[in-house]
Amino acid sequence: MMTTEISPDGQLAALVADAQRLYEDLAFGSVRAWKDGAQGRRAIGFLPIYAPREIIHACGALPVGIMGGSDRLEIVRGDSYFQSYICHLPRSVVELAVSGRLDALDGFLFPSTCDVIRNLSGMFKVLFPDKYIHYLDLPQNFVAGQGGRFYRSELQSIARAVGALTGIEATPERLRHSIRAYNDNRRVLQQLWQLRCDAPSQVSTAEYYLLLRAGYVVPVEEHTRMVERYLSLVGSVERRAVDNIRVLVRGAFCEQPPLALLRTLERAGCYVVDDDFVQGIRLIPEPIDESGDPFDALAHAFLHRSLPCAVKYDAKRTKAADLVDACKRAQADGVILMAPSFCDPALLDQPMLQKALEEAGIPFTTFKYSEDTGQFQVIREQAGTFADAIKLWGATI
Ligand code: SF4
Repeated sequence: MMTTEISPDGQLAALVADAQRLYEDLAFGSVRAWKDGAQGRRAIGFLPIYAPREIIHACGALPVGIMGGSDRLEIVRGDSYFQSYICHLPRSVVELAVSGRLDALDGFLFPSTCDVIRNLSGMFKVLFPDKYIHYLDLPQNFVAGQGGRFYRSELQSIARAVGALTGIEATPERLRHSIRAYNDNRRVLQQLWQLRCDAPSQVSTAEYYLLLRAGYVVPVEEHTRMVERYLSLVGSVERRAVDNIRVLVRGAFCEQPPLALLRTLERAGCYVVDDDFVQGIRLIPEPIDESGDPFDALAHAFLHRSLPCAVKYDAKRTKAADLVDACKRAQADGVILMAPSFCDPALLDQPMLQKALEEAGIPFTTFKYSEDTGQFQVIREQAGTFADAIKLWGATI
């Protein structure tokens, strides 16, 4: 009998197709399947940007990132909940909610990202009066005895509430185990980022992005194996490098650009070598202490090890200085500041980031998008012109 072995290319394509299926499934079928796997399982949704998934995991529940409906969801009722001059993400999240697509989720965390997310938490309290809804105030004071103490109490409150839902207490031992599981995930994601930065022709932006998004819906252990497998497969295939410039992307931390937009950037001549897509998955990129008090370890990591981002104002580690450093580290030729339309946190950061880039002599271009943007011609021309200008003159026109 003849056996046909699937080539690494074929295995890689299958893995990416799996990730894409997860990304496209707006009804969270994988979460429903996970819950069906054993009695009494619970899943807790969280909005962008950052939520302490280790706590949810330690309570035996599945943390699930809710990132909006992208360009695959028709908004029927979501528009009626909000005024017209705000970003698109809350409309699609409400649409997901009222259409029953979030029914598999037993609770929701709303991190203090912006006023829109805060208002959304109030709407969910009205929409789901019987579900656990928690507005997670992330500290803006980075002194351990003040902001750290406050954040620790927030973490404990989440642990108590989710533990009550699952019947599983987040003991120190369970929490350490969860921190270890997420540290393993951080390590493989670091390898992915490094490979993408070293050899962007090997790791396409779309594949990289789909892998990040998979991490928001499948159990962390499964996601770690998925990224490990991707790394092993992509290392064994040959992909042709093209004459693209290396760009760093900032501003896309909350409402996500459509996948087609990411492909457009690459086709327009830009390899993305650093970015802030799905920022919650790498807000704390380095491993967290696995030995001491786990609540303290998580609080300490957020206060002192998390990356600068729009949800934090840390005078000691500014977003502007970090952006310039990141450009140097990634050997980026330029920066694309792409922000969701009407996104106050991203657009308020932008002048400060532009000033820092100008002072450092780093070329940049800016545009806005929406998660349901469907026309990419203008963006393609703009990104293409940016890439050509850098190739020709080393600076933008
Ligand atoms: S896209 Fe911006 S304004 Fe909209 S919810 Fe996210 S952070 Fe807030």
